[in-house]
Amino acid sequence: MRYIFKGKEIDASNLEEFIKALSEMFPEEKENIYAFFDEAKKAYEECYKDLVYGVPLPAELIVKVFGAKKLLDYPKEHPHFFDWMNRTYKQKLDEFFTNEDLKTLLCALLGYLGTKPEETRASSALTAVVSYYLHGGYFPKRGAQRFADRLKEFIECNGGKVLTRHRVDKIIVEKGEVKGVRVGNKIFKSPIVVANANAKTTFLELVGEENLDRDFVEYIKKLKMSPSCFMVFLGVDMDLSGYPTIIENLDEGYSIAINSNDSGLAPKGKASITILTGANYHDFPERGTKEYLEKKREFAEFLIKKAEKIIPNLSKHIVVQDAATPKTLERYTSMPEGAIYAFDQSINTKRPYFKTPIKGLYLASASTFPGGGIEAVVISGIPLRKRYMWLEQERV
Ligand SMILES: Cc1cc2nc3c(=O)[nH]c(=O)nc-3n(C[C@H](O)[C@H](O)[C@H](O)COP(=O)(O)OP(=O)(O)OC[C@H]3O[C@@H](n4cnc5c(N)ncnc54)[C@H](O)[C@@H]3O)c2cc1C
Repeated sequence: MRYIFKGKEIDASNLEEFIKALSEMFPEEKENIYAFFDEAKKAYEECYKDLVYGVPLPAELIVKVFGAKKLLDYPKEHPHFFDWMNRTYKQKLDEFFTNEDLKTLLCALLGYLGTKPEETRASSALTAVVSYYLHGGYFPKRGAQRFADRLKEFIECNGGKVLTRHRVDKIIVEKGEVKGVRVGNKIFKSPIVVANANAKTTFLELVGEENLDRDFVEYIKKLKMSPSCFMVFLGVDMDLSGYPTIIENLDEGYSIAINSNDSGLAPKGKASITILTGANYHDFPERGTKEYLEKKREFAEFLIKKAEKIIPNLSKHIVVQDAATPKTLERYTSMPEGAIYAFDQSINTKRPYFKTPIKGLYLASASTFPGGGIEAVVISGIPLRKRYMWLEQERV
């Protein structure tokens, strides 16, 4: 990974290298840097030592799942992590450091949560941001599609069927109980429906307000979406294997991922690249219009030009080019506003619980606990699996 900050390049492939680079840049903070990562490591180990759901639970869920006693014992059993649970990331950074540039640098990966440091629970920053410094970041070999393919294979091996190009128009509800789903003129009957679409779409469009309590509808309507982004995808006839896989340019607010580095996603001597920056859904005209296409083209060119400062002559080596606006993301995933992580992930958001007010309807997605990101979404299915096993036992 490379960070570009105040014109300097900071390369780090592990925690030791990162600490060394930071200490050289901020010698007056050297001791604090060591102390910060020492505490972060301890807090991280504590939070993962007694997990049931694959991720630490917030206080209200500890009480819900384990009872109030567990919460009372929590500070004693997790002396370092408990503090991260109760503070924001900004408060944690302020506790250790005085140099504002250093604090900014340690927020470089907050895009992985899409939140501001003062609105980020420190424990979320620990598991979703600081964890990259501690243990690195990973991706499925040969790209993310492999992950979806493996899930499909698993379902099919267990006698299930995966139907693509089947948009659910309606979740059928009768007297507060789910009865199945409707796709065009086909009805799929089922006493259990697990919704993976965003909760706004699930409740407001598929279930329908008429089947829900007014307060619940208001609560769902008020949930804020997380930020979206603009992306440029390039296939280039350049050997970029000498570059780090991820380059975060803090000075100009964008990142470059050289996807082909260590993934085999491009032939020898060629490379595949994604350039990504934050973007607002409402800044883009309606998809397909002349204005929209023009804006998309200009935005892509603008980003390629910026990236060219890091990868000289990039624009001259483009073999394939495509781009995605927040509206493209919405088109492909049906996620409102093309949000990256479903709902806003700041400390104030109260995500819907996986059990819904409709009997038999459950959520397993970025809309529910613990939130956005592939790993988090996988974890969102764990309570459901436990509940399903319990329902099966009841049936036997
Ligand atoms: C640009 C970008 C980069 C990201 N990078 C990372 C990353 O590096 N690491 C990471 O962990 N996470 C990353 N994320 C976040 C991650 O992709 C999401 O949090 C995660 O995929 C959400 O999973 P999900 O199952 O909730 O929703 P989705 O993956 O969006 O799946 C929902 C599915 O439901 C389908 N659907 C919607 N409505 C209906 C309907 N009515 N009928 C039938 N099907 C329907 C959609 O087509 C979609 O296939 C990124 C997201 C974006 C947008």
